[in-house]
Amino acid sequence: MKKVAYDGGGPYDCDVLVIGGGIVGLATAYALTRTAPGTRVTVLEKEPGPARHQTGRNSGVIHSGIYYRPGSLKARYAVGGAAEMIKFCAEYGLPHEVTGKLIVATERAELPRLHALVQRGRENGIPVRELGPAQITAYEPEVRGLAAIHVGTTGICDYGAVARHLAAASGAEIRYGAGGHVLRVDRRPERGVAVRTADGAIVRGRVLVNCAGLHCDAIARLTGDDPGMRIVPFRGEYFELARPELVRGLVYPVPDPAFPFLGVHLTRGIDGGVHVGPNAVPALAREGYDWSVVRPRELAGTLGWPGSWHIARRHWRYGA
Ligand SMILES: Cc1cc2nc3c(=O)[nH]c(=O)nc-3n(C[C@H](O)[C@H](O)[C@H](O)COP(=O)(O)OP(=O)(O)OC[C@H]3O[C@@H](n4cnc5c(N)ncnc54)[C@H](O)[C@@H]3O)c2cc1C
Repeated sequence: MKKVAYDGGGPYDCDVLVIGGGIVGLATAYALTRTAPGTRVTVLEKEPGPARHQTGRNSGVIHSGIYYRPGSLKARYAVGGAAEMIKFCAEYGLPHEVTGKLIVATERAELPRLHALVQRGRENGIPVRELGPAQITAYEPEVRGLAAIHVGTTGICDYGAVARHLAAASGAEIRYGAGGHVLRVDRRPERGVAVRTADGAIVRGRVLVNCAGLHCDAIARLTGDDPGMRIVPFRGEYFELARPELVRGLVYPVPDPAFPFLGVHLTRGIDGGVHVGPNAVPALAREGYDWSVVRPRELAGTLGWPGSWHIARRHWRYGA
C-alpha cells in the first residue's frame, strides 16, 4: 500500500474516497466508475471483506416501493431501484427471483391501511391485486386473513453476492481491514480531504462520500459536520421456519405507521429456507449481533443521548 505524508498540498491518491464497503458504498463506486470512466475511486472498508454488516445480514428482499408516498424520492428510487436490481442480477447471473408478496390484514382495524397501500402501489405504478380470504389461500394455502394484496414486483436476492459482484466490477481500489478502517478525517477547503486509517496510512481524495452505514453519524462528525441525528442501534432477530414447505413466497403484515419497521414477515430466501422476523431489540453495540457484544463507549453514547429516552418513553409498552 502506498503511504503518503499529509502536508495539506501535493497530489491526491484518488478522485473520490468512499467510506464503507456495504451495498451503498460499493454501488456508489460502481456508478461513479461507470458514468465517469477514468474517475479514480478508492473504497475504504474496515472489515476483511464486503457486506459484513447490514448488507449481508438483511431479509434479502427486493422491495417494490409500495410503501412510499407517490412522487417522493424514496418512491422513485425504490421502484426504479427494484427494476435495476433485478436487471443487474439477471445480467450477471446472480441468484434472484421475482416471487411477488402478500400483505395480509388479520384485523378489521388494518383494512383502511391495506386499502391505502393499494392506492399508493397503483400511483407508484406497481402491479397490485386485491384478494379476499379464498384468494389468499390460492397463493398461500396455509395463510389466513380478512383481506390481502398481492404485489407483483417484489423479489428476493442475495445482497452479499450483489455486493461482492459490485466490488469486483467497480474497478475501484478497495482497501479492507486496518488499511481501510478510517479513524480520522481532515477536511480542508479547496484541498480535498485526507483520512488516516488504523494502520497509520493517510489517503487523500478530492471528495469523500460517507457510506458508513451504522457509523455514518460518527464519520460525519469526524469531518466536522453535525449530522443532527444519531444512530441508536437495534438488532433484528430471525427464526428459521422448521417446516419451510408451509410458505411458498413472502408474507407480510400491514405495517404499523407508528414504527419504521415493516413488521415480522415470512421470507422464503434464495436458499429455499424461510425466515421469520425480524423483531427489533435494542442492541448494546452498533454492530452487536447478540447480547454478548457490548461496547461501553457506544452504549454510553446511546444512553447519554436524549433521543434514546424519547424513543423508550414512547414505545416501551410495545417493546416489552
Ligand atoms: C434486520 C434488517 C433487515 C433488512 N431487510 C432488508 C431487505 O429485505 N431488503 C432491503 O432492501 N433492505 C433491507 N434492510 C436494509 C438494508 O440492509 C440496508 O439499508 C443496507 O444494507 C444499508 O447498506 P449500507 O451500505 O448503507 O450499510 P452497511 O451494509 O452496514 O455498510 C456500511 C459499511 O461501512 C463500514 N464502516 C463503518 N465505519 C467505518 C469506518 N470508520 N471505516 C471504514 N469502514 C467503515 C462497515 O464496516 C460496513 O461494511 C434491512 C436492514 C435490517 C437491519
